[in-house]
Amino acid sequence: MAYHGPIKAVVLDWAGTAVDFGCLAPVGAFLEVFRARGVTVELAWAREPMGTHKRDHLARMCAMPDLAARWQSVRGQPPTEADIDAMYHDLEPLALEALPRYAAPVPGLLDALAALRARGVKIGSTTGYNRAMLDRLVDAAATHGYRPDCHVAASEVPAGRPGPYMAWTAVMRLGVVEVQSCVKIGDTVVDVEEGLNAGMWSVGVAATGNEIGLDLAAFEALEPADRAARVDAARRRLLAAGAHLVVDSAAELPAVLDALEARLRAGERP
Ligand SMILES: [Mg+2]
Repeated sequence: MAYHGPIKAVVLDWAGTAVDFGCLAPVGAFLEVFRARGVTVELAWAREPMGTHKRDHLARMCAMPDLAARWQSVRGQPPTEADIDAMYHDLEPLALEALPRYAAPVPGLLDALAALRARGVKIGSTTGYNRAMLDRLVDAAATHGYRPDCHVAASEVPAGRPGPYMAWTAVMRLGVVEVQSCVKIGDTVVDVEEGLNAGMWSVGVAATGNEIGLDLAAFEALEPADRAARVDAARRRLLAAGAHLVVDSAAELPAVLDALEARLRAGERP
């Protein structure tokens, strides 16, 4: 049966979407675990797999030909599964240490979520962080006033993004029946894919996330033309991934819901 009713739930990504403008917290930890093994990696390599489960992220980095070649030149053989496991082990304390410093909500988010709650919308969340990392971030974000109704870590489900399992788990915990009434919003290509694979409306954020990768001050310091070009490039990449809609920031969620509810009323489905 076609669903024409209101949006009932929004599932937000964490870093680069709800908190951590520029998605900075994870990047330093990735650079550090490679540096500790004598391998210098480029910032772009650390950012490319962002949004996936952090162990998958390390595996995707190690599968990059340039990174594998650099690793081999230093260590005499390509990175192994055991190397990935060891780096994942070392990543956790680095991430735990960094996360509380990157827990502030993006500007306007709390007001936007208050408006959503006023119209009865439930707030869920998913992430590439594991449970221990997410627990640290949840606690820190709560001190800033950000408290989603549920939070699902990549380590709790059979597979992280681009799989749908975290988004579905969030929907279960929120007690929503119709996935067509749910919106997933995130800052990376795999975030968009997670929402699409879950059968939800999938929305990208272009300005606050990993695609641009600058904190608020650096983002605002960009020349206007440069800033617009970078936001446009991010928007095009997320649209190409299949996003139903791309906005600059999750602070625009009330307008996003208005637009998606109009599409539902017109008979469209995600
Ligand atoms: Mg993110």
